[in-house]
Amino acid sequence: MHSTQFLENTYRKFFPYKEFRKSQESIISHIEEYARSKHNILLVAPNGTGKTVIALSAILPVAIEKNLKILYMCRTHSQNTRVIKELNKISFFLSSNKIDQKIRAISIRGRNEMCLNKSLLSMKLNPNESMAVCTDLRKNRNCVHFLNLNKKRNEVEHPILISPELFDKPIDAEELINVCKEKQICPYFLSKYLLEQMQVIICNYQWIFNPHIRESFLDFITQKLEDCILIIDECHNIIDVATEVNSYWISPYSLKICLKDLEMYRSPSKMLNFVNFLLNHLNNLKNLQDVKEKAIDPSSFLQKICTTLDFSDLNGFKTFIEDISEFSVSIHEEKVANGEIYRDYLGSFADFWLKWMEVHLREDYFFCYNIKDKNEKKT
Ligand code: SF4
Repeated sequence: MHSTQFLENTYRKFFPYKEFRKSQESIISHIEEYARSKHNILLVAPNGTGKTVIALSAILPVAIEKNLKILYMCRTHSQNTRVIKELNKISFFLSSNKIDQKIRAISIRGRNEMCLNKSLLSMKLNPNESMAVCTDLRKNRNCVHFLNLNKKRNEVEHPILISPELFDKPIDAEELINVCKEKQICPYFLSKYLLEQMQVIICNYQWIFNPHIRESFLDFITQKLEDCILIIDECHNIIDVATEVNSYWISPYSLKICLKDLEMYRSPSKMLNFVNFLLNHLNNLKNLQDVKEKAIDPSSFLQKICTTLDFSDLNGFKTFIEDISEFSVSIHEEKVANGEIYRDYLGSFADFWLKWMEVHLREDYFFCYNIKDKNEKKT
């Protein structure tokens, strides 16, 4: 049962239930103690142990005392929502006990799940492509939600004041999106602008484990990673996430689009030959029966490309890929200048080969063909 120890900054101040379940209190106090001395903690416990409230009530006092942010990473939206619910209980508990301690917390999602721009949504892009299209839309002042958000931001001292009653308590991404729909402002950027003021941020693993996303995320939260406490829900998923973050691929579909761009912008014929060679190569593989994955020897494949394209060594191929990358930049610039939306498959294609060359001798990378059935066709 709670005692009158509220003035002490320990888990007791934040644990919002009347009673602890079996073993809960000793787990919480251990976690708090180890977190204070900067240890990593691994908690393995069955469902029903109340792991979310254990983690939050143990870590909140440490984070508040040491001015650290809590980054709580989950795999699914419903897990995010559960964390927000527990935080709301803690907030309510604090205010009911007249403890002057606000918990500002937000759950965030990726651009594809928060964007309200109809043109972008209709294109069904992957996250990288969405980022490029969103950048172009903002650059050309073509996203009304972003323009509205900036207008609102200029009217207040801090984005929290755009809807103070809402952001003063833990808020779930779903709730934020609904409010933004009413106000016709961009939820994705609003959530980013709010991050600086948030003590707890609930997000999926990508925000931290993907190096490209992490950099900008940490800029928005204005805190270094060493000034954050990471809570990773269901951390056995880390291996899959790390593999996904470090995987690159090309497909017949992406090659066809590259080919279209190269033809339309009259590229050098060698670029067209290269993409055609790969497209034929992949299409021939579709006939392999009962094969889902087939390893590739990355060095021999590079050798095969060099022979086909008549490069005497890898440096020649590398310069050629850099030329493709520059070509994609010039197509992009031209399309943006014309107010068009551009899906930069060619840039991703060049990045794929640069990455291949960078890591082809490393044993911790695996190179393969993946043959899948899609809409009853092999790809
Ligand atoms: S600014 Fe916001 S609403 Fe506009 S395209 Fe980007 S993510 Fe979507």
